[in-house]
Amino acid sequence: MGHQPLRVAVVGSGPAGFYAADALLKSDDPPVEVDLIDRLPTPWGLVRLGVAPDHENIKAVSRAFEKTAARPGFRFFGNVEVGSSVSHAELAELYDAVVYTVGAQTDRRLGIPGEDLPGSFAATEFVAWYNGHPDFQDREFDLSHERAVVVGNGNVAIDCARMLALTPEELAPTDTTHEAADAIARAGVREIVMLGRRGPVQAAFTPPELKELGELAGAEPVVDPADLRLDAASEAELDADRERARRNFELLEEYAGRAPEGKPRRIVLRFLVSPVAILGEDRVEAVEIVRNELVAEGGRIVARPTGETEVVPAGIVLRSVGYKGVALPGVPFDARSGTIPNEGGRVAGAERTYVAGWIKRGPSGVIGTNKKDAAETVELLLADARSGKLAGASNSLLLTDLLEEKGVHFVEYAGWQVIDAAERAAGEPLGRPRVKLTEWTKLLETGGRRITR
Ligand code: NAP
Repeated sequence: MGHQPLRVAVVGSGPAGFYAADALLKSDDPPVEVDLIDRLPTPWGLVRLGVAPDHENIKAVSRAFEKTAARPGFRFFGNVEVGSSVSHAELAELYDAVVYTVGAQTDRRLGIPGEDLPGSFAATEFVAWYNGHPDFQDREFDLSHERAVVVGNGNVAIDCARMLALTPEELAPTDTTHEAADAIARAGVREIVMLGRRGPVQAAFTPPELKELGELAGAEPVVDPADLRLDAASEAELDADRERARRNFELLEEYAGRAPEGKPRRIVLRFLVSPVAILGEDRVEAVEIVRNELVAEGGRIVARPTGETEVVPAGIVLRSVGYKGVALPGVPFDARSGTIPNEGGRVAGAERTYVAGWIKRGPSGVIGTNKKDAAETVELLLADARSGKLAGASNSLLLTDLLEEKGVHFVEYAGWQVIDAAERAAGEPLGRPRVKLTEWTKLLETGGRRITR
């Protein structure tokens, strides 16, 4: 057999995409070439545009991605969107295999009245805005009202609550956009209320993130001790999950016992409450919530509304109840779970097509979870290649030729490196890791989008 390398397109350059690319490029039986495609001119997905700016140590995982990008056989194609710039069918013709690692591009909805009132946002919009995502810089977050409500009890909800509570000094050494840092510094928000629909034991956030809420310079966590009285089922859960639930609970107990410190902002963690409506004439004025009780249902503890309601005045609502995958034209999709149906990463019903990351398993886990997930997929892909299932599928046309034909201007990895260097240089005199370019035109100009052969 010839020693033609296997040609694989990986679509989506977040952690799952880079971990998949890395595992593929490490293979020598068969050797593999990877074209990593992203609709944005910049790589790294949520590591660049999701991870909170004050979590610089988490963003450091991008150094591992840089090493992957330096491997022979790697190419980056930024500003190329599958669906509009190229179709799945075209990729399937150009490559021996296609791996989708596109993440979960939208938010889960609450399905309650008032959800779309001005002032009610998906947390994902707020996160994308403060992180400089070029599609979200036009959002206007009115932070003049005294109270903000964050719906949900996951780590994204904590990120949003914490970002709203950071002081100018805490924001200064981060890569938060100027506009967001300025808006947060000037914000009139004094109280950030997080709403958990279940109890403290069932909260999805993790102890290190909860602990940070107790260590902020300008804000203090507030917990009502009454919320920490547990039912028998929650007691049992607490004993079963010593890593997360137990540790979370201890922190919450500590917060509940703290005397008020008089810091300018408060983060109020409420439990067993669900929003039933977002109220307001022309914009958000309040959230109506209902008190829940916990009941066992199908082996799970779920929240059931009691009928007891309350109105919480607020000027802004951030809905942080999870991400959701979006269908790709021409690729199978399960709308209910928001994932591409697959077995271990092999897409059911589409030949030579694979998935890894959130579009494969749903929006859960930490960055590192995607390494194992991508490795599983790549193992199957390589096994398929070795058994001849991917043979002879690709033609010799190159993506560059197709993009040129279509007039699609793509950003290469070298172009991203120019963007990266420019951003770092802009951050340096300010003592910040970088000042992000947040406009499409600037990104494309700096990244030297081009048509090459
Ligand atoms: P998540 O961890 O799944 O949390 C979603 C939260 O929304 C849960 O508390 C859930 O409550 C709640 N929820 C769902 N539907 C609701 C509804 N209709 N009404 C009220 N609450 C509702 O999701 P995420 O916070 O978006 O995070 C996504 C993933 O990224 C997670 O794995 C997370 O750990 C990870 N992440 C990690 C970090 C970090 O490590 N620092 C930072 C950000 C994100 P139930 O439990 O009752 O369903």
